[in-house]
Amino acid sequence: MLQYAVLGSGSSGNSYVFSDGCTSILIDQGYSVVELRRRLDRFGIDLDTVKAVAVTHLHPDHAKGVGTLCRKQGVQTLISTRSIGEQKQLFEKLCIPENQVTPVAPFEMITIGPFCLFCFATSHDSAGSVGWFVTYEDQSLMVLTDTGLTTEEHKMLAKDAKILFLEANYDKQMLQNGPYPLYLKRRIDGSYGHLSNEQALSFLQESGFAGEHIYFIHLSDVNNDPALLEKAAHRCIQTPFTVCHKNQWYGPQREAL
Ligand SMILES: [Zn+2]
Ligand SMILES: [Zn+2]
Repeated sequence: MLQYAVLGSGSSGNSYVFSDGCTSILIDQGYSVVELRRRLDRFGIDLDTVKAVAVTHLHPDHAKGVGTLCRKQGVQTLISTRSIGEQKQLFEKLCIPENQVTPVAPFEMITIGPFCLFCFATSHDSAGSVGWFVTYEDQSLMVLTDTGLTTEEHKMLAKDAKILFLEANYDKQMLQNGPYPLYLKRRIDGSYGHLSNEQALSFLQESGFAGEHIYFIHLSDVNNDPALLEKAAHRCIQTPFTVCHKNQWYGPQREAL
């Protein structure tokens, strides 16, 4: 049976796990191996079952734990060819053994045990950034995070997803009135930044997402308020959803441990 969980989301660390008990894959790994193990333990998932980590992009909150995980556990890293080529220095800093790197192109299908997955381009200030679409038997899960805008391609994919992990980084007004310097506000709000609550909710409506559950992820501590997003989401969508608070973990089996 498929088990999945948000191990953590937000600027202090991101990681998602998909597991059938024998084989597990991660999307992103922004934690130390000790912390990752602690979080997996909460869901009864053994670190030794993790066979691959698929990276969305090289910002530290998503990738800083990838190298140590690979070296300690012999895990395979799936990362976009563009990220490797255009962010050579950042990538090399992770010190992933060469034979444990699988460079991938958008829509190239990768099989890891019972999981099939492919990446698709996102729009972020980290060259080669991608989201991931994972299938397991008749389940389909999509992780769309760290993108300044959504595309027709994203909408088509979301229509096929049963479980959607969707960024809702900031409330426009809170960002505008908040303490961040202007250049940072522009970066976050720009087409290579992050998705606002408003963008996330319009995306859901425009894509015709008809899946089972939505996890709103990567909320900013400073520029968002989970209660505000929850209220807005209740007004717009019928699908059950979870607003993932900073540093909490969430799964379908045990909510907000
Ligand atoms: Zn990022
Ligand atoms: Zn991020």
